Amino acid sequence: MKTRTKPLARMWEWQAEAACRGMDSSVFFSPAGERGRARRHREEAARAICDSCPVSGPCGRFALTSQQFYGVWGGYTEAERRSAVRVHPR
Ligand code: SF4
Repeated sequence: MKTRTKPLARMWEWQAEAACRGMDSSVFFSPAGERGRARRHREEAARAICDSCPVSGPCGRFALTSQQFYGVWGGYTEAERRSAVRVHPR
């Protein structure tokens, strides 16, 4: 009998090559109450790291398919992912 689920390790193996591996996650996730210029600056800093990341594609796909509501993933902000899901629900 074949199984359709990926082995758990394969779902996460892309993270071994992540540019953010071992970094402080506060660059990618907003503190409570963050708004405006502070948020934009933090998201730009996170996006700059993602721009050099060899696994930004798998990371972004993971965030969309697993509906990660918070943080910058694959170079996309929370607002950008919400917008993408509204336009392309699948
Ligand atoms: S794309 Fe960004 S958030 Fe995703 S693994 Fe790479 S550096 Fe980390």
